[in-house]
Amino acid sequence: MNNIELKRFWEKVKEELIGCLPESTHPWIYSLEVSGYDKGILTVVTGQIIAKDWLKKHHAEQMNTILKSIAKDENARIHIVYDENAAKQIKKEIEKIRKKEAEAQLKEQAMENLNYMQSSANLNLKYKFENFVVGENNKFAHDAALAVAKNPNGKFNPLFIYGNAGLGKTHLMQAIGHYTIFNNPKLKVKYTKTDDYINDFISSSRTTNNSVENMSKFNKKYTNIDIILIDDIQLIESKEKTMKRLQQTFDTLHQKGKQIVITSDRVPEDIPQITEALSSRFKCGLMVELTPPDFKTRLEIVTKLAKDNDIITEPEALKYIAENFSKNVRELEGAFTKVSAFAEFNNRAITLDLVKEILKCKENNTLSFDKITDITANYYNVDTNDIIGTARNQKVSAARQLSMYLCRELTNESFENIGEFFNKKHSTALYAHEQIKLKLNTQKDLANAIREIKQALKVN
Ligand code: ADP
Ligand code: MG
Repeated sequence: MNNIELKRFWEKVKEELIGCLPESTHPWIYSLEVSGYDKGILTVVTGQIIAKDWLKKHHAEQMNTILKSIAKDENARIHIVYDENAAKQIKKEIEKIRKKEAEAQLKEQAMENLNYMQSSANLNLKYKFENFVVGENNKFAHDAALAVAKNPNGKFNPLFIYGNAGLGKTHLMQAIGHYTIFNNPKLKVKYTKTDDYINDFISSSRTTNNSVENMSKFNKKYTNIDIILIDDIQLIESKEKTMKRLQQTFDTLHQKGKQIVITSDRVPEDIPQITEALSSRFKCGLMVELTPPDFKTRLEIVTKLAKDNDIITEPEALKYIAENFSKNVRELEGAFTKVSAFAEFNNRAITLDLVKEILKCKENNTLSFDKITDITANYYNVDTNDIIGTARNQKVSAARQLSMYLCRELTNESFENIGEFFNKKHSTALYAHEQIKLKLNTQKDLANAIREIKQALKVN
């Protein structure tokens, strides 16, 4: 018998042994390795002394019978040998497995702790930097948030993130929290919505027997931390007492060099009823704005949504969604969710036709560069193709400059995209925008032109 034949022969015997012997013996049978078959004696080696002793004592006869029938040799028998080297090998392997198991357990424990910390810090697991698509509209805010997350030492304190609803303020703010908990787990993070802070303050200051104790608890809760994330601060307006308390919370944290991050749907001076004291505190750090994303970023956001949820779509379908939901990322996500839910319930593929059917966007609802340029060309009595082309006469140049300005003002698209549409560099679009802004200070007829073009575009 050569080696391969020997192994096959042993596999057959082993299979039969497993089939006939009680289950409790199986691990020992599996520990046996064949080493030779000579003159009817099949030698098998084990690294477990108990395997050898037990099998020999209780199952030798049964094992021999099985071997005899397979080998068709009345004198055949199994000889089990204990091998010290094999034993050492086994010991090593067991240790390796134990170590791996211990490591896995530690990792699992760490993840559990992390999840616990994240949920006790009141964070939504989706709102991480990894899930935030960076575009021209949010790059500065994103970079500032990341800098604070990496170094929450109060260098930009407070970080004040502002912008309209649905543009990612809460997302960015919570991303700072997740980042800190993951990379700097010793730091204590607290996320609080402003209305929760207000309610908490009101219930802590109710005059009961232990109101002093309650107040001290409240103070500890909001100052015994390293990073505080306060969402939607505009809601504090006209709550006089809460504002005073917040000012104290702010000062305590600020003096200790603890990081404060605040979001708001507007700049402090536009929150009518907040105290000057609070407003100036909000402005003393770094203020960053989130504006609506341009088309490219919107497309990236919906593409990522599709990818993360394993949803296959026609590319045109995603483009259509990105084109039609331009002001608010929450609505953009909502549109995508509506389409994908409908497609799933009705077992339909996500095609452009399906998206149009479900979202029923009025096509004229969104202003396109085309439309703006057409109407502007019409106003100046020049040809649209000349505006997009290279013609340089005065009238066309004026119309081109104003078109670029209006594209920026009315769609909030990036100068890059605007430049591309006009076959010009991004700096040309930027320059045009600056020029019109300057000219508006002195040229009355320009303001009239804008008013009339806007009227024709049906925007105010
Ligand atoms: P806000 O707090 O400004 O009202 P949110 O942070 O709640 O807005 O964002 C609304 C939704 O849009 C969230 O689901 C968020 O994850 C998503 N979102 C906003 N901006 C982005 C972005 N740049 N990349 C990915 N998702 C975003
Ligand atoms: Mg929010």
